[in-house]
Amino acid sequence: MKYETVRSDVTVIGGGLAGVSAAISAARMGKKVALVQNRPVLGGNSSSEIRVWVLGATGLGVNRYARETGIIGEMLVENQFLNPDGNPYYWDLVVLERVRKEPNIQLFLNTNVYEVEADGDENSRRIHAAKGFMMGSERMIRFESPMFLDCTGDGLVGFLAGAKYRIGREAKHEFNEEWAPEESDNVTLGSTMFFYTKDAGHPVKFIAPSFAKDITKTAIPMKRVFKAGDNGCYYWWIEWGGEAHIDTIHDNEMIRDELWSVIYGIWDYIKNSGKFDAETMTLEWVGSVPGKREHRRFIGDYILTQNDLINQKQFEDNIAFGGWSMDLHPPEGMYASEYVSKLYCPDGNYQIPFRSLYSKNVENLMFAGRNISATHVAFGSTRVMATCSVMGEAAGAGAALCVEKGITPREVYQRHIKELQQTLLWYDASIIGIPYNDKKDLALNAKVKASSQLKRIKVEDPIKTYENSTDIAFIFPVEGKVDGVEILLDAKEDTIVEVELWDTGKPENYIPHKFKVKDSVSVKKGEKQWVTFNLPWNPAQPQNAFVIVRENENITFYQNEHQVTGTLSFIREKKANISRLLEAINNDQLVVQWSKKPLKRNPFCFRMLSDTDAFSPDKVTDGYLRPYGGPHMWLSENMEEGREEWIELEWDQSIKPSEIHLVFNDDVNEDLNNLHHIKTPFEVFPELVKDYRIEAYLDNEWKVLVEEKDNRKRRRVHNIVEDVKTNKIRLVVESTNGSKYAEVIAIRVK
Ligand SMILES: Cc1cc2nc3c(=O)[nH]c(=O)nc-3n(C[C@H](O)[C@H](O)[C@H](O)COP(=O)(O)OP(=O)(O)OC[C@H]3O[C@@H](n4cnc5c(N)ncnc54)[C@H](O)[C@@H]3O)c2cc1C
Repeated sequence: MKYETVRSDVTVIGGGLAGVSAAISAARMGKKVALVQNRPVLGGNSSSEIRVWVLGATGLGVNRYARETGIIGEMLVENQFLNPDGNPYYWDLVVLERVRKEPNIQLFLNTNVYEVEADGDENSRRIHAAKGFMMGSERMIRFESPMFLDCTGDGLVGFLAGAKYRIGREAKHEFNEEWAPEESDNVTLGSTMFFYTKDAGHPVKFIAPSFAKDITKTAIPMKRVFKAGDNGCYYWWIEWGGEAHIDTIHDNEMIRDELWSVIYGIWDYIKNSGKFDAETMTLEWVGSVPGKREHRRFIGDYILTQNDLINQKQFEDNIAFGGWSMDLHPPEGMYASEYVSKLYCPDGNYQIPFRSLYSKNVENLMFAGRNISATHVAFGSTRVMATCSVMGEAAGAGAALCVEKGITPREVYQRHIKELQQTLLWYDASIIGIPYNDKKDLALNAKVKASSQLKRIKVEDPIKTYENSTDIAFIFPVEGKVDGVEILLDAKEDTIVEVELWDTGKPENYIPHKFKVKDSVSVKKGEKQWVTFNLPWNPAQPQNAFVIVRENENITFYQNEHQVTGTLSFIREKKANISRLLEAINNDQLVVQWSKKPLKRNPFCFRMLSDTDAFSPDKVTDGYLRPYGGPHMWLSENMEEGREEWIELEWDQSIKPSEIHLVFNDDVNEDLNNLHHIKTPFEVFPELVKDYRIEAYLDNEWKVLVEEKDNRKRRRVHNIVEDVKTNKIRLVVESTNGSKYAEVIAIRVK
C-alpha cells in the first residue's frame, strides 16, 4: 500500500458531468484542481457504463433557445462533429479529452472517497481532507484543499462531513408545493439499467437465465410500450428502488439484481414470446452499474422549489438556468400498475441561485448535480445532466473565487456575486438575463461599425407547403416599430385570413402572452401569394413579436429552405406532439401546445414590412450571449458569391490587445443529445463562421493578427503575442458553414 497526500486549491469528488464541469471551470480560472472519480470512466450517468442521454433545458426540443453554452455547450457541439452516430464510447472520449486538455486538473480515476476529516460544531463545520482508495493501484490518497465540491450524486462526502441534507419528498405545507404529498416521506426516484441490442444478420437463440423474471406476470407488458430495436434510454422506465422501504444506496446491490432480472425477462419476452420480429436480434451490451436518480439533497442557504420553477423566479444570485420539465415517476417504478408519471413545463427557462450550491453548515463545501439544495419536486427538473453541468460550472467558478479571496461561498454570495456572474459570462456560461459588462473588456468602450447589417427579415425561399389545419405562428425580433408582415400562402377558395400579434411576456419566453393588434384580410383564390397584414406595434423595449395566423382550412403556407436567425415558427398542436419519453406531458402548457418540432429547421415564409435594428453591429458588445427578448447578435447582409463582411471596433485612444475573444452563433435553439436520439442534418452548425481573420490598423493599413480556417466552434480565444498598439481592430468574415450571413454574438478585447 502506498500512502500519499495531494494538495490542491479545489478538490472535486465525483466525475459525472457536474464534477467534470466544476473541475474544468475552476481550472480555467487558474486553480489547481484534483478531480476524483471512483469508476474508470468519466461522465457519471452519461458514460458508456450507464448510457443515459445528456438532456437539459431544451427539454427534447420543447423549450426555445434553451440549449446550454459554456462547458457542456462546448462538449455537445464537439460531440456533434466527432460523434455523429452517437457512439457511447466516443462520448466518453469527448469528456475525457476536455478534462485532459486542462493542465491545472489532476485526474484520479478508480479512486473511491470513503472518509472525510472535518471538525466544528453542527452549524459551523469545516472539511480538512478527504481520503480515497485507488483501486488496482493500492494507493491511499489524502486530498487536502481549502475548498471541496461534492459532485458524487449520492452526496457521500457532504454526509461524512456532517452537512445537513434531506432524502425523499417534502410535505406540502413546508414549501406550499402543489405536487408535494400531504406528509413528508422517504420516496425517491428509483434506479435503472439499460441494454443495447443489434441485428446479428442470422438467427440467434436466447435461453433466459434462471433469475430472469417472467414479465407477463407483471404490469410491464400492459403498461409499457417497447419495440424489438429499442436501445438505452428508451427503457428509462426499467426503474426500481424508489419506494419508501428501499434505499437507493444501501440497497444498491439488491436493486441491480432486480433490474437484471427484468432486463433478461424483457429480452426473453422479445425473443421468445413470438410477438416481436426478433429472430436475428441479439444483446450487444447490458448495464451492470445501476444509474441512480436520487438520494441525498443537501441543504444550502436557499432551497429551490416547484414554485420558483413555475414562476421563473428572478434571483439576484442567478448563476445558471434549467428548463427540463418537472419530471417525477411513480415510486413503484416499472411495477406501477397505473401510468402516473408527472411532467410539467414552465413557460421558459428558470434561474438557479448560487445559494443552492453551497452547504448551510459546512463552510467550505459546495455541491452540484442531483444533490443540490432543491426540493424533491424542483429536483425533478434540475437533475438532468446538462443542467447538472451548468451548475457544476458555476460551483467550480464559485470555489475558485473562494480560494482566490480566502472566503466562504456564503461570502461570495453576500459580497461578490456580481463578480462571480461576470466571471461566468466571461467564459460564456449559461446565464439568462444578465449582460456581461466587466470593465476588463476593452471592447465595451469601442465604437462599432460593420460592412453591412441585416435590416429586413425575409424568410422567402420556399421548399414545401404546409396545410393550415390548426393555428400557426412565428416570432421575430422587434427593435423600433413594426408595420406588419407579408405571408406567403395559397388560397384554395376566396377566404378571410385572421392574423394577430401578441407579445411574449418575459424576454426569455417564446409563447403568446398579451394580445396587441390584429388584422383580417380577404384573400382571393390563388397560389403563392404574398399577402399583407397590417400589424402596427411600437413597443418601448426591444422584444419579440409572436404572430398567430388563425386556423383556416382554405389556406396553405410555405416552409422555408433553411432556418433564419432571429425567427422561429410554431404550430398549435391539438394534442401534445412529443416523444415517447415524455408521453405523460399534457397539452395545456403553452410551450407544449405551441410546438416548433414538426417544422424542424424549415420556418414559415414571411417577410417584415419594416426594418429592424435587431441585428445592428453594436450587438457584439451589448453583453448578452444568448437570445433574450431579441437575438443579441450582429448579422451582415447576404454574403453573396463569397463577398467578405467585416465588423470593426474603434477606440479614441490606442490599446494594446493581449487576448481577443469571439463568440459565434451555434444556434442555441437546436436540441442536441450526446447519443443522438435526434440527429441534426449537419455536423457543424451552418450559422457558425468558418474562415476569418482578425486585423489591426497599423501604419495606415490593416495588418493580419490571426487567420483561421475551418472554424466549427462557438467561442474562440486568440492570444495576441505580438506587441501591437492600435486604435482599430476588425474581424473579417470570409465564409460561413452554410449561413448566408456573417453571424457574430460577441467580440471582447483584453
Ligand atoms: C435511468 C436514468 C435515466 C435518466 N434520464 C435522464 C436523461 O434522459 N437525461 C438526463 O440528462 N438525465 C437523466 N437522468 C438524470 C441524470 O442522469 C442524473 O441526475 C445525473 O447524472 C446527475 O449528475 P451528477 O453529476 O450529479 O451525478 P452522476 O452522473 O451520478 O455522477 C456522479 C459521479 O460520482 C462518482 N462517485 C460517486 N461516489 C463517489 C465517491 N465516493 N468517490 C468518488 N467518486 C464518486 C460516480 O461514480 C459518478 O461517476 C436519468 C437518470 C437515470 C438513472
